Amino acid sequence: MILIKAGLACNFRCKYCYQREIRPEENVIDLEAVKNTVRNLYSQTKSQIVLHGGEPLFLGKDLVEEFLKLSYDLSGRSSVQTNGYLIDQDFIEIFKKYKTSVGLSIDGPWPCNELRGIGSREDRKKQTEKILENLDLLLEEKIPTSIIVVLHKSNAINDRLEILKKWLISLSERGVTGRLNPCCSGIEGIDLTPAELINAYDQILDLFLKRGISGWSPFRDIIAALRGDPNVVCVFRECDPFHTPAATTVLGDGGVGVCVRLYGENFYLRSPVKTDLRSRILQQTDCKGCEFWNYCYGGCPGMAIDWDWRRKDRWCPVYKFLFKRLRNILKFVGPRRSVSQPRREKSSIEHLDGSLRHLDSDLSKSHSDGIEHLDGNFRHLDSDLI
Ligand code: SF4
Ligand code: SF4
Repeated sequence: MILIKAGLACNFRCKYCYQREIRPEENVIDLEAVKNTVRNLYSQTKSQIVLHGGEPLFLGKDLVEEFLKLSYDLSGRSSVQTNGYLIDQDFIEIFKKYKTSVGLSIDGPWPCNELRGIGSREDRKKQTEKILENLDLLLEEKIPTSIIVVLHKSNAINDRLEILKKWLISLSERGVTGRLNPCCSGIEGIDLTPAELINAYDQILDLFLKRGISGWSPFRDIIAALRGDPNVVCVFRECDPFHTPAATTVLGDGGVGVCVRLYGENFYLRSPVKTDLRSRILQQTDCKGCEFWNYCYGGCPGMAIDWDWRRKDRWCPVYKFLFKRLRNILKFVGPRRSVSQPRREKSSIEHLDGSLRHLDSDLSKSHSDGIEHLDGNFRHLDSDLI
């Protein structure tokens, strides 16, 4: 992914923002340098381009249009990750023009979203309501929209978790999915403990299973990883902290940086070469012998224990819990049918197996155990048909 992070200024001051130490008051952008770098990177990688920030819509409509047009001209589409507060009808028209998918960052209805925004508690409540109105607008206008929810102590424990769960159901009923990411601010009163995060994910997963809701990460990504699908979130893709292959950032002066998750007070430019140094260290230390290594690879270096990329991700106990739980569900479901084993069209004929009446089995091979069957009006022993 090519992340245009030309401007890191933001209209909000969210309390857990991982860019808080590098956030400028104003953006200083060398537009031509940024555009040239994006063109070069795209010609090499053909990766998806996402307009990021700071708050990208805080760049102003002209610059936003400039970057979305660049992305559209190169790739035929565009994406933006926004806090959603500044969305208005003009932005909607820009999104339509450049086939923009919108990622909206919001942690639930009030008070679940209380850590996001700027100003007094009352101000942030109004901002939350405005963002929810803008979400409605996006959906009414049929702009492809997904949600990033950050889980923390204000939305994922006790009664707040109940509010969040109801909201996730209502989003899912409207066809919206997204990500449920753990907050990793390093602030004790904000970040969940591993036990709290396990409880939140466990409850949400129970709810989704009960309601038949799919598509939300991390569950979707963990299932994909367990099934060997390469299309999983960067956290489970062997991230090299000097190259961060899943997140190449383009800075305001046209420089190419690693994922901003790794920035503390400093910026780090990206090495052009990917190494497996972190993996080799972890396989001999923190992750030695882990049964989930081939699905997890030690998680995100930006969330490493002690902020030390040589250590595993601090959410390791949570990942282990989810890998185990979802692996058991996959075992329960059984292997997926391959294309060479099509479903038998005959399978809807009613059968009587001894005293047990049922529809035709959809076993891939015939079953010929000699039990008398009733196929419609036709009574017979188990057939040998495939
Ligand atoms: S540092 Fe973490 S968030 Fe960034 S690309 Fe790597 S795994 Fe993803
Ligand atoms: S689950 Fe934990 S120990 Fe296993 S690979 Fe992931 S971070 Fe390492």
